Amino acid sequence: MESAEIRRRWLRFFEERGHTVVPSASVIADDPTLLLVNAGMVPFKPYFLGEVKPPFPRATSVQKCIRTPDIEEVGKTTRHGTFFQMCGNFSFGDYFKEGAIKLSWELLTKPVADGGFGLEPEKLWITVYQDDDEAEQIWRDVVGVPAERIQRLGKKDNFWSMGVPGPCGPCSEINYDRGPEFGVEGGPAVNDERYVEIWNLVFMQYERGEGAGKEDFPILGDLPSKNIDTGLGLERLAMILQGVQNMYETDTLRVVIDKATELTGVRYGAAHDTDVSLRVVADHIRTSTMLIGDGVTPGNEGRGYVLRRIMRRAIRNMRLLGATGPVAGELFDVVIKTMGQQYPELETDRKRIETVALAEEAAFLKTLKAGTNILDTAVTDTKAAGGTVLAGEKAFLLHDTWGFPIDLTLEMAAEQGLSVDEAGFRRLMKEQRDRAKADAMVKKSGHADLSAYRILADESGETAFTGYTHTENEATVV
Ligand code: ATP
Ligand code: MG
Ligand code: MG
Ligand code: MG
Repeated sequence: MESAEIRRRWLRFFEERGHTVVPSASVIADDPTLLLVNAGMVPFKPYFLGEVKPPFPRATSVQKCIRTPDIEEVGKTTRHGTFFQMCGNFSFGDYFKEGAIKLSWELLTKPVADGGFGLEPEKLWITVYQDDDEAEQIWRDVVGVPAERIQRLGKKDNFWSMGVPGPCGPCSEINYDRGPEFGVEGGPAVNDERYVEIWNLVFMQYERGEGAGKEDFPILGDLPSKNIDTGLGLERLAMILQGVQNMYETDTLRVVIDKATELTGVRYGAAHDTDVSLRVVADHIRTSTMLIGDGVTPGNEGRGYVLRRIMRRAIRNMRLLGATGPVAGELFDVVIKTMGQQYPELETDRKRIETVALAEEAAFLKTLKAGTNILDTAVTDTKAAGGTVLAGEKAFLLHDTWGFPIDLTLEMAAEQGLSVDEAGFRRLMKEQRDRAKADAMVKKSGHADLSAYRILADESGETAFTGYTHTENEATVV
């Protein structure tokens, strides 16, 4: 089943059951606490918080999501992308636990011929929150899942909150058993590669108080209304329904891998390392396309830094695979063609997207070779002196002169067995910023003062470390 069909079926199923279909919001969150939309519930947050009265009791969407914290997993696990689409159904004080559980089971197991996804019930494993007897009872007695395929997990996995006082509640997840070729048996509590998580059902029913992050906080009481927030990864379901080994081999991503193999001559499946690189390229080029599509431009902080880092990482992986010239033009073209079927604005905006992408690639290629030489020399010198840590000055030079995002330096140094003095790097970034501020004061009157731009540019290191996925007062969702 094609990704486009999964999407259609999802929306149709819930629309037929009284849900209003809401189009995906931009990945640029309309929310000061969040840099990029990372879950389907984000656009509905004001309804859940009771700040705005929901215009409908039930909604459904397929939301574009970006999760930069998952970047390390990309290409290494079979199921994490930095961009993915979250299919969701939502109830604002309407149906609750039993309604949500029954709907999810019906859609997943309904035969394909009848509009469902036709998954075999025996392959589905359920997790519930450790204290949630009610959810377990519904799965077992109402839906009929055998008790041995229902597992209880703790707060970390199966209790949802936004990390701050506000709504919260237990969740229950549906996982799919991909079979013994993916490792030992024992359910999702034991093996999350074999029993891949596909759908999270959040039962938003309590109010939480102040506390440490997502796990250590008191429950203050019940919310005035009980809500449902669910999220299913479209790419993960596509992986199962298309019978492929990982999400990068599903229809919308495989075409990017194929283009990358065509451009580099490396065969997919030839070796583990090159396969990881090809998957990184497919994921990151798609994420970059979607970010630029929604109006992000490469820069040294915030969303611009996310884009720069991801795009430069894709291009460097293409070099590792053997590409010598520019590749962005052809890779972006494939993504725009494929994703453009779901998001026609990508085609409408093709010219702008390509212009931004090509300019960023050109800027990076200009400095990549020189920067790589500097880094290699620094690594050799450090090792010759018996060291294991690359000096902060070197990382600073690479950033300042050669446009290497600090993460790229960290990654390239690690590939050669070195860590980096990040504290030293940050100190130099701060000194430079302070100097620029002092300059700005001196030049306050007189000619046009461009130092403010310099200050902005120099913020990059700091934002790179702390702020590239969330702003202050981070809200972590689903
Ligand atoms: P995981 O444990 O696999 O990292 P999660 O618990 O972080 O997933 P949720 O926050 O519960 O994920 O999001 C709901 C659904 O979105 C997941 O069940 C999964 O299907 C999908 N999903 C989450 N993160 C990713 C990702 N990085 N790439 C693709 N799909 C994802
Ligand atoms: Mg996760
Ligand atoms: Mg999980
Ligand atoms: Mg989850």
